[in-house]
Amino acid sequence: MHDIAKNIRSIKQNLPPSVKLVAVSKTKSINEILEAYNTGHRCFGENRVRELLQKKELLPSDIEWHLIGHLQTNKVKYIVPFISMIESVDSYRLLRVIDAEAAKSGRMINCLLQIHIAEEETKFGFSMNEMREMLEDNDFKFLKNVTLCGVMGMATFTANKEKVRNEFRYLSKCFNDLKNDYFRDNKHFKEISMGMSGDFEIAIGEGSTIVRIGSLIFGERSMNKK
Ligand SMILES: *Cc1c(COP(=O)(O)O)cnc(C)c1O
Repeated sequence: MHDIAKNIRSIKQNLPPSVKLVAVSKTKSINEILEAYNTGHRCFGENRVRELLQKKELLPSDIEWHLIGHLQTNKVKYIVPFISMIESVDSYRLLRVIDAEAAKSGRMINCLLQIHIAEEETKFGFSMNEMREMLEDNDFKFLKNVTLCGVMGMATFTANKEKVRNEFRYLSKCFNDLKNDYFRDNKHFKEISMGMSGDFEIAIGEGSTIVRIGSLIFGERSMNKK
């Protein structure tokens, strides 16, 4: 058995108070999630809509759910009624669909803009050019039901710590540039979500405000269930 309660307490004790923990519960059971919940933790992250919907039904309603995985536009409507934050907004089209569904639900949806910082092509996210194109588009200002809270990124999966540090440093710089150029007077735009089990300490050193930690809390996931 894993010591989920012990793990989550010790991680939280060691995080700077300014850094928020998202407990990544993908592939983990209801009972495992409840074990973390019962320590008082409320913020959990899932990467698949179907799995999130199934779990949400069976768990307490005061959980703050973050979506952290690639989101298809046709699934946005299922999560908009309850989601606390969509961290993985990786296209202008997706942001527009979130805004439209949020308007129908009468909600404001907190979003992070995912930036592609890794070497791997498989990881999603905007390039800075795509980001500027979106932010300078004439219709961008009509998005009224999304709150842009900052940026999110995933570093390359590698043992090379210097490479990971450079990628996180680049994400911090992207955040600062966007803040200065487009969100100077926007008090909501303040988050940099970076850092997972293997690299969160490096991420915090580079200015992370949100870390997304799964396996250090819940134990390793089985290999075929990434
Ligand atoms: C799975 C996942 C995490 C957590 O990964 P661990 O290495 O288990 O901490 C964080 N962020 C995203 C986007 C993920 O998909």
